[in-house]
Amino acid sequence: KHASKIRLDDVKDTQTRDKDKSDRATSEQVLDQRTRMILYQMINRGVVSEVHGAISTGKEANVYGAVAFADDFSKVYRAVKVYKTAILSFKDRERYITGEHRFKAGADKGNNRKMVKLWAEKEFRNLRRIHSAGIACPEPLQLKLHVLVMGFLGDRRGWAYPRLRDANIPADEAEQTWSALYIQLLGIMRRLYQVCKLVHADLSEYNILYHNKQLYIIDVSQSVEHDHPRSLEFLRMDIKNTGDFFRKQGVDTLADRIVFDFIIT
Ligand code: ADP
Ligand code: MN
Repeated sequence: KHASKIRLDDVKDTQTRDKDKSDRATSEQVLDQRTRMILYQMINRGVVSEVHGAISTGKEANVYGAVAFADDFSKVYRAVKVYKTAILSFKDRERYITGEHRFKAGADKGNNRKMVKLWAEKEFRNLRRIHSAGIACPEPLQLKLHVLVMGFLGDRRGWAYPRLRDANIPADEAEQTWSALYIQLLGIMRRLYQVCKLVHADLSEYNILYHNKQLYIIDVSQSVEHDHPRSLEFLRMDIKNTGDFFRKQGVDTLADRIVFDFIIT
């Protein structure tokens, strides 16, 4: 139906059949053959039409901008998160897995490919839950192995919304805006806990996007069920990290333990 392309500048052929090498390739910002195959399939199905350059290259995943076409041929932007199979990222993640009952089936700490698939799956399921609870976050659209396609949080020209830490808030409305955003975040955290039964577990000004006085929650692959043995510890950490940030913005924040009680009751 549409001319499909993957920009070759962005999606390079690693030209290798060596398993270890192609795994390593992903960690070096070049998509391996398996990942490219998944993207081609998604292009064939119209999930995306073009995959563009990286919006973000992280330790555990890269996020790419992509374009799809709606039925009326209008362009819509999407974000494609590709999890990396590099071994270094798994150490930190151990504590989220242990005690997570959704991980019991299929968790094989020796198998990287299986592990990244589980992370992607977990992010997808968490996003679904969060999105259907009416919390602003990317809409989960498609999942295949370690590749997750979601709605793009950005403007109509394809610019992604900034992270909260980079939010550009005019000085004359800063005081009022920051305290309103603080209140908004408390509501989000409570809803996340009470309705989604989740604790984000990596919540900070880096995993919240900002646009037009609205906060968007992202990066929920490590989020845990509230019955995870360490969920309250993670919740305290989320409260501290976000509280510290808002305090730095001059907001007269509540004490962490007050926030904690507000969220869990
Ligand atoms: P990581 O595990 O690398 O931290 P994130 O999910 O936090 O992965 O995404 C990394 C960055 O990519 C974010 O800080 C944000 O700037 C951008 N990003 C992620 N998801 C989206 C999205 N749906 N729309 C727009 N930008 C996004
Ligand atoms: Mn992140």
